[in-house]
Amino acid sequence: MSRLRGLALSLFVCLLFTGALFAGDVRNVIWIIGDGMGPEAMGFFMQGVRYAGLEEYPEKVSNLEILMNNGEWGLFFNNTYDTLVTDSAASATQMATGKMSRPEFIGLDYNSQPAETLLELARKEGKAVGVITDTYVADATPAGFTAHAQNRNQKMEIARQIVDFAPEVVMGGGLKYFTTGENKKLLRQAKKKGYRVALDKKDMAAIKSGKILGLFAKESIPMSLELDQYPKIPTLTEQTQKAVELLSKNENGFVLIVEAGKIDWAGHANDAGAWFHEMKALDDLLGYVKGYADKNGQTLVYLNADHDTGLGAFTYRHLGKEKAMKKTAQGEVLYGGDVDYASFETFRQFAKQKKSLYNLELELKKMPAAQLTPEYLQKRLTEAMGFEVDIAQFENLTDVSGLFKQLNESRGLVWATPSHSSLPVLSVAYGQQANAFTGVYHNTDILSRMGAVLGWGAE
Ligand SMILES: [Zn+2]
Repeated sequence: MSRLRGLALSLFVCLLFTGALFAGDVRNVIWIIGDGMGPEAMGFFMQGVRYAGLEEYPEKVSNLEILMNNGEWGLFFNNTYDTLVTDSAASATQMATGKMSRPEFIGLDYNSQPAETLLELARKEGKAVGVITDTYVADATPAGFTAHAQNRNQKMEIARQIVDFAPEVVMGGGLKYFTTGENKKLLRQAKKKGYRVALDKKDMAAIKSGKILGLFAKESIPMSLELDQYPKIPTLTEQTQKAVELLSKNENGFVLIVEAGKIDWAGHANDAGAWFHEMKALDDLLGYVKGYADKNGQTLVYLNADHDTGLGAFTYRHLGKEKAMKKTAQGEVLYGGDVDYASFETFRQFAKQKKSLYNLELELKKMPAAQLTPEYLQKRLTEAMGFEVDIAQFENLTDVSGLFKQLNESRGLVWATPSHSSLPVLSVAYGQQANAFTGVYHNTDILSRMGAVLGWGAE
């Protein structure tokens, strides 16, 4: 080999290498969306873990806190084309397509034109793609990445489009959208597309390669604090482990979307105990994905939220005549006298909550009012909440929704709304090229940043 050819060759190899650095640094993306996870939900959970002395967290640190302390943060807006407040459909659509959209649109820009999603682009680049959720697969967030429809309520149509697009991994609840009515034969079609169908944890474990369609509940997967009654349903972490096992067999890497969808539902119900358990389920998942990213070295973990739900927090309240006197041994009043500044004990109560307030409310509202005696309500609330609820402190017991509101107030819990707010939300990026997601941005900027870290458009 002449010296010149040698030089040319080494230059070529060098270029290849730097090219690989740009284009190949991030091979896999695991994007976790906390549905309805406003910054206050993250703070609420981390504060409880740090300071409330919870048995489940003897180290007093959450995986979320570890991820945040080792990752890069950004704050981003999620307004739609012409509304300040968004829903999950528009938000998923804007995040997946980089285009401004409108509430309730799925995979369409604001002019109702289909827009290419991250997963469609990823497939063109040779990536394996997956979408999993702990609600149901035809729900707005997974749909925004896999389908195009005028309205999020076209769930049958969305299910058909998911099968048609055929991501390598689809898992969550929502079996009924694949087995009933006009979609009666959809599972058969899915099998023709190469899917193996899993209906429970055991089925899921048995699938070791190829495409998986996991449908673990007829409708949604139940709330996390009630999930121990359903041992056959895999947790979100177990679903993610299986997804990564299957997707990582692809030699060009993968893009996986994981929705932690019930943080939103707990927020809608203004149920802080359920909120805590949904954040805990997310936190378990973060422990797993961080471990995977650390081992793999070519994976970007991106955690964000589609919007805030509920604007919940603790507040202090005036007790009136009750008087919570905080005194020293000498009888000196330390503060307030009639002010309750909220107690760490409430977090220890959340950890013990057994039933979501939403489901309890549904059950109680179905009962004849005459049966809702103080004794009965006391018993049901105490069972559901995991601590002795003193029903005597509440007024107008026949108004079940009002009762739950009083229960919140009695613990210093305040919620601004039963719906979404315009609050900007946080992103946390961890692993390769995490610094691409810092600063203040908009959810339509995410796609181009993803494309850049994956090396798309660099050729
Ligand atoms: Zn919502």
